[in-house]
Amino acid sequence: MKHNREETLSEEMPNGIYDVVIVGLGPTGLTLAHLLGRRGLRVLALEREPEFYGKARAVYTDDECMRVFQAAGVANDVEPDMLIDTPAQWVFGDGSVLAQFVRTDRPYGWAVSNFFYQPTLETKLEALLARYPNVSARRGRELTCFEQKRDRVMVTHAASAGLQYDHKRAATQPATDIQTITARWLVACDGGRSGVRSTLGVKMIGESFPNPWLVVDIKAKHGNDGFRHLPYFNFCCDPKRPAVSCPQPNGHHRFEFMLMPGQTREYMESPETVREFLSHHVDVDKVEVLRSLVYTFNALVAERWRQGRVLLAGDAAHMTPQFMGQGMSSGVRDAYNLAWKLDAVVAGRAGDHLLDSYERERKPHAKEMIDVSVRMKDFVSMANPAKTMLRNAIVKGMLATPGLRDYIREMRFKPPPTYPKGAYLGLPRKRRKGAEGRPIPQPIMRTFDGKRGLLDEFLGEDYALVGYAVDPREALDAKARAILAEFGAQYITVFPFGQRPQGAGVSRNVSPGLVELDDLDGGLIGWLRQCGARPGWVALIRPDKFVYAVTPARKTQDAVAHLARALEPEEKSRAESGCKLAKQARPADLEGMDLLRLDPPGSEKPGLPTVESESVTPPL
Ligand SMILES: Cc1cc2nc3c(=O)[nH]c(=O)nc-3n(C[C@H](O)[C@H](O)[C@H](O)COP(=O)(O)OP(=O)(O)OC[C@H]3O[C@@H](n4cnc5c(N)ncnc54)[C@H](O)[C@@H]3O)c2cc1C
Repeated sequence: MKHNREETLSEEMPNGIYDVVIVGLGPTGLTLAHLLGRRGLRVLALEREPEFYGKARAVYTDDECMRVFQAAGVANDVEPDMLIDTPAQWVFGDGSVLAQFVRTDRPYGWAVSNFFYQPTLETKLEALLARYPNVSARRGRELTCFEQKRDRVMVTHAASAGLQYDHKRAATQPATDIQTITARWLVACDGGRSGVRSTLGVKMIGESFPNPWLVVDIKAKHGNDGFRHLPYFNFCCDPKRPAVSCPQPNGHHRFEFMLMPGQTREYMESPETVREFLSHHVDVDKVEVLRSLVYTFNALVAERWRQGRVLLAGDAAHMTPQFMGQGMSSGVRDAYNLAWKLDAVVAGRAGDHLLDSYERERKPHAKEMIDVSVRMKDFVSMANPAKTMLRNAIVKGMLATPGLRDYIREMRFKPPPTYPKGAYLGLPRKRRKGAEGRPIPQPIMRTFDGKRGLLDEFLGEDYALVGYAVDPREALDAKARAILAEFGAQYITVFPFGQRPQGAGVSRNVSPGLVELDDLDGGLIGWLRQCGARPGWVALIRPDKFVYAVTPARKTQDAVAHLARALEPEEKSRAESGCKLAKQARPADLEGMDLLRLDPPGSEKPGLPTVESESVTPPL
């Protein structure tokens, strides 16, 4: 729901309060800034680096994240700079294919496989923030400390010359031009070395792996020439030298080489070694080496993601080995999960307990992504010849077995975006294939007047009620309608393609406030039916397109009442029920807590796991 805030922010809103301060303009912070900006919140985003520093890390994202970018209004801006529908494969040392992952279907409306160049994505996302007068993105500003009050956070930031990977510089930079502002909420999207997280004393749980890989980003000197022979994403499962070859748009390409015993970081990063390694794959005189760096991996999750008015998101909350291309994508999912909840809490439509559902919903999925990424790492980096023979035989066997073939070819081992039972905001999922706590698919729909559009374009940005061949308002009483009006709900009726009501006896006008759609390829109705819905049933959809309830139309108002109770601010429910709720660690309890000083990011507490090694070694 938009807030209709008309004021344009002055640089620092001297007399005002920001709704949200975002720390860090990496992919997570940028996505969150867009989503909140679109909802009309007053946002200040602080980024320590004065200029975008060109950290080429992420290369792949999936359809779920493209759907989030769609919700943020940027998907059509970023997609042209992506290689869409790029097959991925496991290949042998000679380039022959062990297995190929190919998907051209679009369950969430976008390609499942999208390869991109992170600096292009980030610079575009940042430039597009100019759309929002209510979002102030400030580079060269570093969060230096924050203090939580009952109803706000005092945020202090200072000028920063940036670190450019050299975290030791943090301690040597004196803070100048110090400013303090007030915000309702602080979201730390400040990366794997999150200073906010360490200041809060939140530990990272998990493992850091010693296996280093050399990552080399190159660019063809002459346009796109030189990479025709490497069209697909390859995991080279060669026990002598596990490697990755990754196509990227606009003449970019990435290689990753696993360090074998005896190979040191210094040796691997030397220009001679890089050149020698590249020469096995490309004409080295025709490419420019943009960056080569040795990385190690972390598989870590923050023990808690919220403390009072401060939330952690993206790498600050979880660090994912890159082998499934899911680190950034997890951060983008965090942003989507958080944005509508922050909006509802700031606008007073929900109590702040809603924000506790963020960690409950997102953490298990982020953890599953980490686990599957570790398994993929182990799979592709196997260096023992006997074990690799066994591995290859198992994969070949699976590919020859109907039923198992698609498990590999369609990468069904990737964890689906399903919230665990009992952990999500919604009615309980009673059957294995129940819809609650899962995202609704996004097929292409047809309007009454013959136009096509992706489902989310009709669902809108807030709640939606989707009736299967029924007006979802049919059984709603005035109270339920009033609640839904406050939530800005959209009403939709969906019919199987070609089966709209017609002829005599059918109302000649569409009911005002209702959108009627044909399900062109049956992707929505087929899914609803699998989930147990029948004609006359209604799905209640959350603003992030996860399903809250699927129910016969006559019970829709029970589902709406359940939602209203779940969101109800605590004070209201206490006043109405007359009962005293158990005292919890709510923001009120944090009044007067000590000023939290931000440690320099390089000064992680002893015992905390190390984070990305990129911060240790400067780029070439
Ligand atoms: C080699 C490699 C390959 C990868 N490949 C993929 C992939 O294919 N797909 C994928 O999804 N993920 C991939 N990842 C992971 C992905 O790059 C990260 O998960 C993602 O960049 C994290 O985004 P973020 O916004 O959470 O944090 P970051 O990108 O780390 O951004 C944090 C920002 O916060 C700023 N900051 C920090 N402290 C402060 C402060 N006190 N004040 C102000 N600003 C501050 C920093 O300067 C930085 O700009 C890869 C990672 C690596 C290393």
